[in-house]
Amino acid sequence: MQTVLVTGGAGFIGANFILLARQNNWFNIINLDKLTYASNLENLAQLQADPNYDFLQGDIGNVELVSDLLNKYQPNAIINFAAETHVDRSIFSPQTFIQTNVVGTFNLLEATRFYWQKLSPQNQQQFRFLHVSTDEVYGSLSTQDSAFREDTPYAPNSPYAASKAASDHFVRAYYHTYGLPNLTTNCSNNYGPHQFPEKLIPLIILNAIDGKPLPIYGDGQNIRDWLYVIDHCEAIYLVLQKGKIGETYNIGGLNEQTNLTVVEKICTILDELAPKSDLRHSSLMTFVPDRPGHDRRYAIDCDKIISELGWQPKENFDSGLLKTVQWYLDNSNWVNQVRSGAYQNWLKQNYENR
Ligand code: NAD
Repeated sequence: MQTVLVTGGAGFIGANFILLARQNNWFNIINLDKLTYASNLENLAQLQADPNYDFLQGDIGNVELVSDLLNKYQPNAIINFAAETHVDRSIFSPQTFIQTNVVGTFNLLEATRFYWQKLSPQNQQQFRFLHVSTDEVYGSLSTQDSAFREDTPYAPNSPYAASKAASDHFVRAYYHTYGLPNLTTNCSNNYGPHQFPEKLIPLIILNAIDGKPLPIYGDGQNIRDWLYVIDHCEAIYLVLQKGKIGETYNIGGLNEQTNLTVVEKICTILDELAPKSDLRHSSLMTFVPDRPGHDRRYAIDCDKIISELGWQPKENFDSGLLKTVQWYLDNSNWVNQVRSGAYQNWLKQNYENR
């Protein structure tokens, strides 16, 4: 069986990917994660006894550590999920986004290049570096514009998007300059289990459960394309297996929704699943001042991955949202731990003093 180094595997999408990959026995996995506030090793607790899974705490920007790890485990591929990912945080403190998303990805590419150059010609040919990125690199669309394609020029508007755009460019350059067999995926907004509750969908679900205000930026008419996280993970697996090296693949849910509609749908689901005697959840909706530079609309044209690789998003938005709300209702321990800071304390005790 092949071995894959997954970076950022203790976060939302990476953890879902690792769970799916081990369930299906796709490959052995080494998970390298810095364990920032957005991570949670509880996501992967069920793999503790899995002999085909290993975890290492570390930074993708640490060339020495990554080189040692590559030489030790000799992976056949790397999937880079590791990133700082929250747009609002990138507005208030962009520095960490540059450090991880730009410098970190660059250092990871450097370590990978040195490792890859020493492989046998056959192993060099089979090796893949898959970089997971976002549709936010393409900027903002008006309602009339056609959706982002792989050849849409980059026009990032937030520090997060700019840092991801920079990392995508380095990945591209390492293919063209050094021949490193790279692939890039640019995906729309994901939702599903295990997402840190600072992002729109889990934030709204948890605030609504607690009877707290449901903040909606601006007029609520910003449009995002939403994809169930498992559909994204399956697309990544397919691109890794069959994608053409040096190419990028857009991944999307064919599912554009205004933020207001997303919030209303969550409220309707919670009125059913967790009714409150004294109020309807939608009465908690509160419009708040818009995010600076808030992109109006993202839409993804994912014809390429559909026609070339035969991928399709499977999960319908209403059923995916229902499953997601149910997951947060069923996993109050996970939620309490993430929110209470207990996990952060545990991290400090177990990792920071090593
Ligand atoms: P997340 O914030 O939930 O998880 C990121 C993970 O990366 C965390 O476990 C964190 O500890 C780890 N990490 C951060 N800095 C690191 C470093 N320097 N070294 C090693 N690990 C580090 O993010 P996510 O939502 O799972 O996103 C994963 C990837 O997918 C990101 O690259 C993101 O840009 C991309 N993406 C996300 C979405 C989305 O909707 N969430 C959509 C498209 C693309």
